[in-house]
Amino acid sequence: MPAPGELVFESPKRGKPPTHFLDLSVAQRKEALIAMGMPGFRADQISRHVFEHLETDIGQWSDIPDSAKLQIGSELFPKILDPVRSIECDNGETVKTLWKLHDGSLVESVLMRYPSRVTICISSQAGCGMNCPFCATGQAGLTRNLSSAEIFGQVLAGAQSLARNEIAGGPGRVSNIVFMGMGEPMANYAAVMGAVHRIVDPSPSGLGLSARGVTVSTVGLVPKMRKLATEGLPLTLAVSLHAPDNELRNTLVPINTRWSVEEVLDAAWEYADVTKRRVSIEYALIRDINDQAERAKLLAKRLQGKLVHVNLIPLNPTPGSKWTASRPEDERAFVRILKSEGIQVTVRDTRGSEIDGACGQLAALD
Ligand code: SAH
Repeated sequence: MPAPGELVFESPKRGKPPTHFLDLSVAQRKEALIAMGMPGFRADQISRHVFEHLETDIGQWSDIPDSAKLQIGSELFPKILDPVRSIECDNGETVKTLWKLHDGSLVESVLMRYPSRVTICISSQAGCGMNCPFCATGQAGLTRNLSSAEIFGQVLAGAQSLARNEIAGGPGRVSNIVFMGMGEPMANYAAVMGAVHRIVDPSPSGLGLSARGVTVSTVGLVPKMRKLATEGLPLTLAVSLHAPDNELRNTLVPINTRWSVEEVLDAAWEYADVTKRRVSIEYALIRDINDQAERAKLLAKRLQGKLVHVNLIPLNPTPGSKWTASRPEDERAFVRILKSEGIQVTVRDTRGSEIDGACGQLAALD
């Protein structure tokens, strides 16, 4: 996260990341400063530098005495995200960044600039334990959960590079955040919610982005989906369904043997009822696996009359997988059937696929 030359401190601890200012709620920030023997108002000053001005170079904080900076840096701003490399496509409007965490774990984030918005796709875990056979991230298993600071740090870094005019298209701001990078966000609930608060809480508590622009994507961890509905935040919920029937879904999304299609969709409708937010159903179209007309009809039947939108994702290739994207005519037929049943549907673009930065391709290989 810090630019070269910024004041950063190495952490000796391995495994669990050291606590960082970005992990803390407003109340905890104040407590931390007081515990360090400093006045509580320093917390607010620091929050303004970080969240209002995106300034994480402690050397630039002119209202903090030099004598305090060293201690603040070493205790509250340990180095947690180290950029290993960034690769670009779309003339620099798509940028995938590989991050090394303090213990050597690797994660990736992807920034995508569109004419009217900038979306950052972030990781919530190093690896993933859900083991979906068509997703590259799942193949290596779960390494560990990320902390709130490690998750939010990916957003902050993207916001900083946009503000500093480092992204093609001129200076800009982040408008959308999608938890669609590595990991299953609902399996790391508390840290993800901490990061969500840093993203949506009004400045200087957080960045003050609209909760509607934040999408949390899940394989369908039902108890956590129900909990998310109680948070009082109009986040967008995306459910990775990929099959309308349990027999097939058990093989594509193995956690389906724990929470069935019916249970996952019930939790999704409850989320829509409580938050009044339209739920997104993600469906990767896999040739001759889940793209038949009968499955489109069954999907439409299950979604009929609900506050829902289907996002079809042409399968992105992953190493060693025998599966491939649907034939164009099968994709068109699938879309047609859903539309004829009155279901809203769009086909997701495959941004980033040439840099292995598209859905399901993040594997963080060094
Ligand atoms: N674990 C969460 C967050 C990951 S989101 C979830 O599964 O929802 C990434 C999205 O891309 C998910 O919908 C996932 O199922 C989908 N995906 C995974 N591999 C893919 C691939 N090879 N091609 C297209 N989409 C894929």
